[in-house]
Amino acid sequence: MVHIVGAGPGDPELITVRGQRLLGEADVVIFAGSLVNEEILKFCKPEAEIYNSAQMMLEEILHVITLAEKAGKTTVRLHTGDPSLYGAVQEQMDAMQARGIEFDVTPGVSSFLAAAAALKQEYTQPGITQTVIITRRGGRTPVPETESLKKLAQHQTTLCIFLSVNLLDEIKRDLMSAGFKSSTPVAVVYKASWPGEEKIIRGRLDSIVQQVKEANIDRTAMIVVGHCLNSEGRQQSQLYSPKFSHMFRQAKI
Ligand code: SAH
Repeated sequence: MVHIVGAGPGDPELITVRGQRLLGEADVVIFAGSLVNEEILKFCKPEAEIYNSAQMMLEEILHVITLAEKAGKTTVRLHTGDPSLYGAVQEQMDAMQARGIEFDVTPGVSSFLAAAAALKQEYTQPGITQTVIITRRGGRTPVPETESLKKLAQHQTTLCIFLSVNLLDEIKRDLMSAGFKSSTPVAVVYKASWPGEEKIIRGRLDSIVQQVKEANIDRTAMIVVGHCLNSEGRQQSQLYSPKFSHMFRQAKI
């Protein structure tokens, strides 16, 4: 049996209870070494066989899994954050399905959520935006033209941009040409939740490139853009308003 597990964003305490249990039971662990905090491997059995997928190709990963299956062992395939986002996990799941290998998936706390926690920020706010777009800027991995940043930014939602902090200058240009003002607030969170390593940079579209450069951040960072970061013009929600009734509470006024 293979368990695909989201390791969470970095802090070992942010793996799920189920993820931690599965990791503790696994005979074989294949972790995404480029991003998973190795501290999390402390949850593994001392005799577990541990592989770092950063140095492996798809076929090698499948080979390790197939051997483990033949030996009746349990494998955990550990992905960073949540496996469903930029995890290259679909091809692994498809290959396991094709080979008749049984697997299940345990979600994880994605880095865009750890970034919100670090920023003490709600991404969806009444009167500002009710939508979050998760995306990346096209670079070595192309992004379909229909979802270019220039197009997505026209909606003026909250944007969480993965895998792109090295392209911040291009992002700034795209967003400004899509209508975001130079004063639009932007936050960059480096290694959200990693004990002792997290850095938060807050700025505006016209200042952030320089600020991030000065902080020497060129990877493992979440870019958050949008009016939700603006502390002015906030409205209160209906949910806790005395004028609003819902299934669990009657309006008071
Ligand atoms: N599946 C992962 C994303 C993998 S892609 C998830 O759900 O978070 C790798 C990108 O995720 C990085 O380039 C960076 O943009 C972001 N990322 C991963 N961990 C991060 C962290 N702790 N803090 C900020 N960004 C992070």
